[in-house]
Amino acid sequence: LSPVPSDIEISRAQSPKAVDVLAKEIGLLTDEVEIYGQTKAKVRLSLLERLKDQPDGKYVLVAGITPTPLGEGKSTVTIGLVQALTAHLNINSFACLRQPSQGPTFGVKGGAAGGGYAQVIPMEEFNLHLTGDIHAITAANNLLAAAIDARILHENTQSDKALYNRLVPVVNGVRGFSAIQLARLRRLGISKTDPGTLTEEEINKFARLDIDPSTITWQRVVDTNDRFLRKITVGQAQFDIAVASEIMAILALTTSLQDMKERLGKMVVANDKKGEPITAEDLGVTGALAVLMKDAIKPTLMQTLEGTPVFVHAGPFANIAHGNSSVLADKIALKLVGEKGFVVTEAGFGADIGMEKFFNIKCRASGLVPSVVVLVATVRALKMHGGGPNVTAGAPLKKEYTEENLQLVADGCCNLQKQIQITQLFGVPVVVALNVFKTDSPAEIDLVCKIAKQSGAFDAVPCNHWSAGGRGAVKLAQAVERAANQKNNFKYLYSLELPIVEKIRIIAQKVYGAQDIELSPTAQSQVDRYTRQGFGNLPICMAKTHLSLSHQPERKGVPTGFILPISDVRASIGAGFIYPLVGTMSTMPGLPTRPCFYDIDLDPITEQVKGLF
Ligand code: ADP
Repeated sequence: LSPVPSDIEISRAQSPKAVDVLAKEIGLLTDEVEIYGQTKAKVRLSLLERLKDQPDGKYVLVAGITPTPLGEGKSTVTIGLVQALTAHLNINSFACLRQPSQGPTFGVKGGAAGGGYAQVIPMEEFNLHLTGDIHAITAANNLLAAAIDARILHENTQSDKALYNRLVPVVNGVRGFSAIQLARLRRLGISKTDPGTLTEEEINKFARLDIDPSTITWQRVVDTNDRFLRKITVGQAQFDIAVASEIMAILALTTSLQDMKERLGKMVVANDKKGEPITAEDLGVTGALAVLMKDAIKPTLMQTLEGTPVFVHAGPFANIAHGNSSVLADKIALKLVGEKGFVVTEAGFGADIGMEKFFNIKCRASGLVPSVVVLVATVRALKMHGGGPNVTAGAPLKKEYTEENLQLVADGCCNLQKQIQITQLFGVPVVVALNVFKTDSPAEIDLVCKIAKQSGAFDAVPCNHWSAGGRGAVKLAQAVERAANQKNNFKYLYSLELPIVEKIRIIAQKVYGAQDIELSPTAQSQVDRYTRQGFGNLPICMAKTHLSLSHQPERKGVPTGFILPISDVRASIGAGFIYPLVGTMSTMPGLPTRPCFYDIDLDPITEQVKGLF
């Protein structure tokens, strides 16, 4: 329709097919599917065993230029592309997307189901609770936080013997260790299995974790942008948004239930008073965390407006987290589409952040090699990178963005050029998808495509999927198909054996274009500690603003000559990365003056949700 109706109107106007019908269409067996209502289902991991000899399809990553408040449309392109591949070119394809956080849904961004005629439906199901994975993460995260606090309290108030007797209780007249406690004894080098035979020294070693409260790094989480919680301190810890929890990162990177359990157990939450790491396993909580996460590990199946399959799994926030959807969803989808099919997944924010983490962290965890990167740009966002005026929330767009201005576009293409160069560092062909808005002029569109090709893109294609659905992305799909047959020289950016500081420097200089990095004394001492503790060979997950290639959000285009300040360094040992904080990064976002929730409402008669976009 023209004008294009609102996202929720379009979503509601299409009746999704029943999810069991969709599951059958894509080759799932009845016992591999757990139905949630009529439009969502979880898919069991047993499928990976059944299809283990089936060759994988082609693997496509959608990334973007540096985001601006004007929007790029990565999710919209991802969905438009699979609609084009499956519904218009008859090639099996799957989109693998991240579950949105309630923070942005009720804050500034709105939902993340795509938009216009390229959406996942029903979009209100997608954008709200889905199948409860984020709630499970919140529950698991906060159980661990409570376990740390409780342990410190009990150790502070009880003698060694009293603590031991409570930790190893008498059940049916017998005192016995649980499996998790026997494992702890083994780690401590105590080979005894009869609780009555431990010496006083062994009892002390076993019963006391001796957590140093000043070293606790584990935060409590909630999935709401609640600025107030930045100021609340619980002991030494604060609140993060739920999707920044290490447990979300584990969900995204894990490859099986067994692997998830091991990763949950390895999470380091603090140090003891001797400086040794304390893990979730030491607190005896690994099994309980795995129980809380047992359903979350299964990807959720949904569909696009054109009835093609989508997996929704794991979380957003590529600035403060790694921000990629799950390895498991990608692996299952790659089997389901077959050798000639395509799986299209999305990395958050600009290629410098989400894509860099996709390659260096997610591909390392999965062993998968992507065939093509689709880099999304818009004329409007490029104009802002070229020096266009700032936009004010609630005010009409300035004429620079609604009328032709070739100079601004040409100047702003430096950002696109730089993101193409960043992609090329990884040796994968890049196709630029120019997401067309109705205010873009033909000359502006041509100019972007010309500059993209001159800058080394394999191809650059204007796309109209937002206004025309999959039909509007057929040229993009054809370009992606051609690019996927190119020679692929995929490589990681750095070797894991390099020292932590060297790996940070490589990302800062080669990807962000920084002159150098500068570590605060806290950051340096954390690096020394993690290196001493044996965690020096992990990949790096930078926590950096997404609004600039540099650490200063107001610096658009391609900033140069800056020294990247590393204020702190944390470690997510279970997820498997070192986590440097660049400048002042808040891990708890806030709400704007007029948040999206002003427009969100429920019709009590029809039960319809209104105002989501
Ligand atoms: P990203 O994934 O880059 O954050 P999305 O794909 O979620 O961006 O799109 C953000 C918003 O912009 C959505 O509400 C979508 O409807 C809107 N949008 C995307 N592309 C277009 C377009 N070509 N014309 C108009 N609105 C668009």
